Amino acid sequence: MSTTYDVIIIGGGIMGCSSAFQLAKRGLKVALFDKNNIGDSPSGKSSAIIRQHYSNELTARMALHSLRIFQDFEERIGGECGFTQTGFVVVVDAKDMVGLEANVALQRKLGIQTELLDVKALQDIMPGINTEGLVAVAYESDSGYADPYLTVNAYAQAAIREGVTIFREKEVTAIRFKSGRVVGVNSLAETFDAPIVINCAGAWGAQVAKFAGIEAPIDSCRVQVAFFRRPSGQEAAHPVVADFINATYFRSETGGLTLVGLIDPAEADAIVDPDKYKEYMDDDFLLDVGERLIVRYPAMELSQSTGGYASLYAITPDWHPVVDEVPQGSGFYICSGFSGHGFKLGPAVGLMVADMVSGNDDPIFDPQMFRFDRFSEGKLIRGQYEYSIVG
Ligand SMILES: Cc1cc2nc3c(=O)[nH]c(=O)nc-3n(C[C@H](O)[C@H](O)[C@H](O)COP(=O)(O)OP(=O)(O)OC[C@H]3O[C@@H](n4cnc5c(N)ncnc54)[C@H](O)[C@@H]3O)c2cc1C
Repeated sequence: MSTTYDVIIIGGGIMGCSSAFQLAKRGLKVALFDKNNIGDSPSGKSSAIIRQHYSNELTARMALHSLRIFQDFEERIGGECGFTQTGFVVVVDAKDMVGLEANVALQRKLGIQTELLDVKALQDIMPGINTEGLVAVAYESDSGYADPYLTVNAYAQAAIREGVTIFREKEVTAIRFKSGRVVGVNSLAETFDAPIVINCAGAWGAQVAKFAGIEAPIDSCRVQVAFFRRPSGQEAAHPVVADFINATYFRSETGGLTLVGLIDPAEADAIVDPDKYKEYMDDDFLLDVGERLIVRYPAMELSQSTGGYASLYAITPDWHPVVDEVPQGSGFYICSGFSGHGFKLGPAVGLMVADMVSGNDDPIFDPQMFRFDRFSEGKLIRGQYEYSIVG
């Protein structure tokens, strides 16, 4: 088998697989390496909420583009992504009202189907929701969630159909350079050559950047989700809710379940070794999110816990990724650090990476906002909310 490629991608989460697919569609010979299996990654364990509520035009446009792909996945990518349209609701208190209204105005300008709701309209959409303390509500009827495991594997299969070679359970252990330009990677004693190497290693992004002698501000942070079986009489699916007041999000899951997680900047404090962390859920997390869920959605009071798990966010100082060639002209690219909101952007990120690598001067999504140097320049990306946690 030839070991020379145009592009080598390290990491087979959604970013690696989507990028591989798009690059191969442009005629490049691509190899993708993952040290685990496809779908075992944090991408495969994502809550996979697909919404378009973002504070920046670029990310909102990327979310809208990606939503269209999720809606028409079989036709445009092939295979299944399990997209389920339930609608998406954001609820905030006075502190975030101006930010929410600004986001909705931005999104509407971009053609996103979203609106501000009054309390009565929210109760019509989601009977049983507790509206106490809510000052402003935004709603997106088109949004919902996908099946993350199916999505990542469908992208991997689509990439393979385009000619990508996927090496599973093969860890990249070194990146080789000659005169400042990348020439390939090693996997233990094996060598593979390419003039372009892309770090799509997510929570391992800093580790892989170190192979290239780069200190990337990407922390690997442990986050948890819990599941609850909806009680009798409440079996019907409900919209996705981002509850800024109780710092939680929750969505329906197949099998009559509701999945709950936190929107809490403190999650960035839970830095762990991505190869050695507790993958099961803590008991106190279950109690905490269970209580927060009931406050917003009292109908869940008689629900039953059905477990949960922990996975990893790849968090940067502004909760936005690095998508850049580092250093310029080296052929080494970083596409990591998507924090807690990258899954839904995956389809658009593949296009962004393909445009960047192929030197397109007029890219569909300009990666400039995600450049590496913004951290050293102190020019972090800011959202409308107190924290940039949701982008
Ligand atoms: C619990 C949870 C809930 C989330 N909820 C949402 C949500 O609702 N909506 C949303 O949009 N986003 C959400 N996210 C965030 C989103 O899932 C991530 O931003 C996105 O999946 C990151 O994808 P990735 O491809 O960058 O990285 P990953 O999925 O982490 O993939 C990186 C891959 O690199 C591989 N790798 C690492 N080092 C090496 C090496 N040396 N050699 C070979 N392979 C290597 C790893 O094995 C891994 O498979 C959530 C994330 C989590 C964990």
